[in-house]
Amino acid sequence: MKRHTFAAQALGLGHVRNLAACAAFVLPAGFAAAQDDAGEPVTLAIVGDVMLADGPGKSIARGRDPLAPFGKILAEADIRVANLECVIAARGIAEDKPFTFLAHPRTMAVVKRHFDAVSVANNHSGDFGAAAFAEMLDRLGKAKVGAFGGGRDLAEAHAPLIVERKGLRIALLGYNEFFPRSFEADADKPGIAWSEDEQVRRDIIQAREVHGADVVIPFMHWGIEHEPLADARQRALARLMIDAGADAVIGGHPHVTQDVESYRGKPIVYSLGNFVFDSFTDVDNNTGWLLRLELDRHGVRSWNTVIARMDGQGTPHPRPDLPAQCWDRETAEARACMAQVPR
Ligand SMILES: [Zn+2]
Repeated sequence: MKRHTFAAQALGLGHVRNLAACAAFVLPAGFAAAQDDAGEPVTLAIVGDVMLADGPGKSIARGRDPLAPFGKILAEADIRVANLECVIAARGIAEDKPFTFLAHPRTMAVVKRHFDAVSVANNHSGDFGAAAFAEMLDRLGKAKVGAFGGGRDLAEAHAPLIVERKGLRIALLGYNEFFPRSFEADADKPGIAWSEDEQVRRDIIQAREVHGADVVIPFMHWGIEHEPLADARQRALARLMIDAGADAVIGGHPHVTQDVESYRGKPIVYSLGNFVFDSFTDVDNNTGWLLRLELDRHGVRSWNTVIARMDGQGTPHPRPDLPAQCWDRETAEARACMAQVPR
């Protein structure tokens, strides 16, 4: 399809969609078929920090489900993804660092209920040491929840998680670049993937060439906390990833949502903000996005957001009454719109 698009542009024929009607007259054989080769769209719902220790952990211990208010919205997506901002393990020794989050193994049932895959590439998955991290990977595996951005060794941490729906192979890669770097996997040590530029570039290329991905999406853990705008490093790395073949770049960690951009027609959503997290008092920190991507063989066809507002227990509530943002491939500019959600 890309080949055909470039050919049409080179011929000065304007936008490819307008060509469908006259395809039989001016286009080389095979072009009309290219209109259909995008395949059936696949929807991917992705959220930012899901922290299941502290308040949300207590809610789950009382038999409540902090993700229940978003249950229907998540359930209607073909693929559901989160950043798991804690360790789920029975035990571990807390690292010497600010804020450590150990979630009880019972919280895995909630993860399994709502998510197909989680990124473990963040600054909390290693809070209780490499053994607890590896235990979490085992528990995720048993629950049949995919994990990416981390692994039992360096190679596994950098390998994409391939999720296939309706014949579309989607590669999810995860990277952290917020300290401590000691959480990083090594040749024989479980841990997370760190975003060294050259390694990231290779991982993205290999996702297609070795793992046969149609769509490649890196999910980043980056940026400056509480900053509403992405910084120069985020902007540069996002461009590097798209130049290497990423179809979209999605991020989180700053505990607030950040701005969005398009680069070479590919969306960059710098930060989804928090999603399940307690102990914050500012409304910005208690606001996150559920991002819905519509994917096809050419990458992201459109995206839209549903605004989440967290209550005092860290439970997010959908707010379709608040203006959210939408984008589509045709216009490539994000615009304000109201989210459509199931009732
Ligand atoms: Zn973080």
